[in-house]
Amino acid sequence: MPSYTFVSTANAFVLRGAKVVFVDIRPDTMNIDENVIEAAITKKTRAIVPVHYAGVSCEMDIIMEIASRHNLYVIEDAAQGMMSSYNGKALGTIGHFGAFSFHETKNYTSGGEGGLLIINDEGFKERADIIREKGTNRSLFFRGMVDKYQWVDIGSSYLPSELQAAYLWGQLEFAEEINENRLSIWKRYYKGLLSLQDTRKLSLPIIPSGCCHNAHMFYIKVANLEERSSLIAYLKDNDIMAAFHYVPLHTSSAGLKYAEFIGKDRYTTIESERLLRLPMWYGLNEVKQQYVIDMIKEFYQ
Ligand SMILES: *Cc1c(COP(=O)(O)O)cnc(C)c1O
Repeated sequence: MPSYTFVSTANAFVLRGAKVVFVDIRPDTMNIDENVIEAAITKKTRAIVPVHYAGVSCEMDIIMEIASRHNLYVIEDAAQGMMSSYNGKALGTIGHFGAFSFHETKNYTSGGEGGLLIINDEGFKERADIIREKGTNRSLFFRGMVDKYQWVDIGSSYLPSELQAAYLWGQLEFAEEINENRLSIWKRYYKGLLSLQDTRKLSLPIIPSGCCHNAHMFYIKVANLEERSSLIAYLKDNDIMAAFHYVPLHTSSAGLKYAEFIGKDRYTTIESERLLRLPMWYGLNEVKQQYVIDMIKEFYQ
């Protein structure tokens, strides 16, 4: 998996006793670099975990091809990828598993915490049912396939409350509208800041062809860490909150304990230090957004 990701990507595996191996990212999308995966594969490797950063797809054709050649599972971290696609295929439906998040920071939320696991491999369906039912075969019992249910595996209580489900349903009913609104905000930032990219003050996001994204976030990349800190401070003085993002996991204390970075860190650290996220939410109005754009321009003047 990439080191440039949220801690949950790694925790999920470390919690089950796996050792996490990080590889470098591509500077254009901040996604796992498909070209360095193969060199990190050993006899012990079990899975590849692409993270679709900002709702922009990883190079899934190549990743699936590597996985099939080495007999590995692909578990997509599509936490940010709902409504996005790769060559027409919805993110989270390409690998053997796809994990989504409905945390309050995501495009669709169940009002705080929530998530979804998509299982694309029939062979895992029954076990997934069991794990979700606290490790019991209760769902087989309800389907009349066993005469009493019992504890058969590890599991937990992964069900959302009715209130959370209802909150999420309300948003999913307007999934298209929410997506369109976010995309139009994304495009306004892009257009508004293009002149700064032309004069090489900053870089704008790159969306590879075949990737249809969901405007999960809008980020810019500035010259370096120092410039980013001054820009954040400048925006803060003007009542705008802009945030950096992940500290690469391989440099964190738990990362040093439970994981290892294989290959060269050519881009992970340096590119993460340049990245700055701009305010982005459903319903962000044009006047407020223009103010953000104007303040960034003012900073560079
Ligand atoms: C939000 C996020 C997660 C975690 O989602 P939870 O719902 O908090 O479990 C994992 N990976 C990525 C890339 C995320 O953005």
